[in-house]
Amino acid sequence: MHPKSAPLPAVTDDRIYIGLGSNLDDPMLQIQTAVTALQALPHTHVTACSSLWVSKPMGPSDQPDYVNAVVALSSALAPLALLAACQAIEQAQRRIRTRHWGPRTIDLDVLLFGGEQIHLPTLIVPHPGITERGFVLAPLHQIAPDICIAGKSINHWLEKCDRNGLQALDQPILAL
Ligand code: AMP
Repeated sequence: MHPKSAPLPAVTDDRIYIGLGSNLDDPMLQIQTAVTALQALPHTHVTACSSLWVSKPMGPSDQPDYVNAVVALSSALAPLALLAACQAIEQAQRRIRTRHWGPRTIDLDVLLFGGEQIHLPTLIVPHPGITERGFVLAPLHQIAPDICIAGKSINHWLEKCDRNGLQALDQPILAL
């Protein structure tokens, strides 16, 4: 097939991207701890880290602001194994969740898994919120400025999304 008539790829990057968020118990440290745990997973390397960003809570507003970040991984883990590993990291950091979209010590989302499109009961990739959430798109843009999602550039999605008080912190995730 001529390259010009090939369908647009859903995602133009072969890396894995994980979104992290925390608004309890020293959020910056929670994110740092989770990134260190991702780096320690078998056959997995953290290849890029965004800055830390502060965002207003989505859902109930009577909770602290969130700290968010996105990291890129290369990994030989299969998607469900990586999801299980992310959930184990959440448990290890004693994730407390009392209500939907309520405060949590750490949340890890599998945002993108290369170009894969996954529709399983427990795993949807690309993550369903990725094209709407400023607190995901802004840090993702820092480490993947040329990525296309659902056939459109990340800049397209960033311009459309609600940034809702989103602010980059000067503080990077510590070197691993
Ligand atoms: P939450 O922690 O509120 O973001 O949602 C966790 C639930 O979402 C778990 O039951 C997962 O199985 C499910 N899930 C579906 N797709 C994803 C994804 N891409 N990343 C993380 N969790 C996912």
